[in-house]
Amino acid sequence: MSVPAITLNNGVEIPQLGFGVFQIPPEETAAATLTAFEVGYRHIDTAEMYGNEKGVGEAVAKSGLDRSDVFITSKLNNKFLTYDDALRAADQTLADLGLEQIDLFLIHWPLPTVSDFVPRWKALERFLADGKARAIGVSNFQQAHLERLFDETDVVPAVNQIEVHPYLTQKPLRDFNAAHGIATEAWSPIAQGDVLDDPVLAKIAAEKGRSTAQVTLRWHIQRGDIVFPKSVTRSRVEENFALFDFDLSPDDLAAIDGLNKDRRRGPDPDTFDRV
Ligand code: NDP
Repeated sequence: MSVPAITLNNGVEIPQLGFGVFQIPPEETAAATLTAFEVGYRHIDTAEMYGNEKGVGEAVAKSGLDRSDVFITSKLNNKFLTYDDALRAADQTLADLGLEQIDLFLIHWPLPTVSDFVPRWKALERFLADGKARAIGVSNFQQAHLERLFDETDVVPAVNQIEVHPYLTQKPLRDFNAAHGIATEAWSPIAQGDVLDDPVLAKIAAEKGRSTAQVTLRWHIQRGDIVFPKSVTRSRVEENFALFDFDLSPDDLAAIDGLNKDRRRGPDPDTFDRV
C-alpha cells in the first residue's frame, strides 16, 4: 500500500509518513536510513542538531533511488541566531547532506526568550528564493510566534512541526495551523513509547489485531498530520510502515482524542532557551 501525499501550501507534495532519525548515532544513521528505504519509506526527517545529516546524505546516495523520489527535511541549529549565520548554516546542511536542494528546511525552535526569530525566518525566505529549498517551515512555533511571522514576513510557513501524541493532542494549535494553510507535522508521535501501554489504545489494538504503536500512528494519519516515527529496530520500522490497510472508526478516533492530558515529553516552546 502506498503512502498518501499531503500537498503543502506552495504545491509541494510530502509523503504523510516518514522516518525520523533523532537520537540515532551518526555512525548508525546511514544503515538505519537505508533500512527505512528498503522497507519503503521515502521521507526522512533529520536536523543539524541531531549530528547525523551526513549519514542521511550517505544513505540517499547509496540507495540508488531517484533524488525526486526521496523527500528530505532538515532544521536550523539553535545556535545560529542571526540572518547571516542562518543562511550559512542552511548552506552547510546542503553540503552535509550532499544535496543541491533540500525538500523542506525548518527553524528548529523559536527561542523567543533568546533572540528574535524574524531574521532567521527572513534567512529561510532567502534560501527558498535562491532555489535551495523546495519549501520552508517552522518547528515548535506557538500561535503568537506564527502571528508575528504573518505580520512581519512574506512567506507563510509550509509546515509547523510540533509535539503531538495521544497525551498531547494539540487541538487548538493544529486548528490554527490548518486555518492558515500550514500542515501540522507531529513529532514524537508515539511519545517515545510512553503511550504504548495505554489501556484504551491496547483495547483498540486488540480489536483490530494491530499493535498499539500502529493504532497510535494510524490515528495521526486519519487526523491528517504528517508523522515520522523513529526506530533502529527493523521489525518496528516495518510495523510502523504498515498503516494503510486498516481504519479506525469515528468512535476509536474520539476515544484516542479523549486521552489528552496536555502532557509534554519535550520542552515548552515558550520558555525553551537552549542554544
Ligand atoms: P517516537 O515517538 O518516534 O518514538 C521513538 C521511540 O519509540 C524509540 O525509542 C523506538 O525504539 C521506539 N519505537 C518505535 N517504534 C516502535 C514500535 N512500533 N513499538 C515499540 N517501540 C517503538 O520519538 P522521536 O522523539 O524519535 O520522534 C520521532 C521523530 O520526530 C524524531 O526522530 C525526529 O525526526 C522528530 N522530532 C522532532 C523534534 C523537534 O523539536 N522538531 C523533537 C523530537 C523529535 P527503537 O529505536 O529502540 O526501536
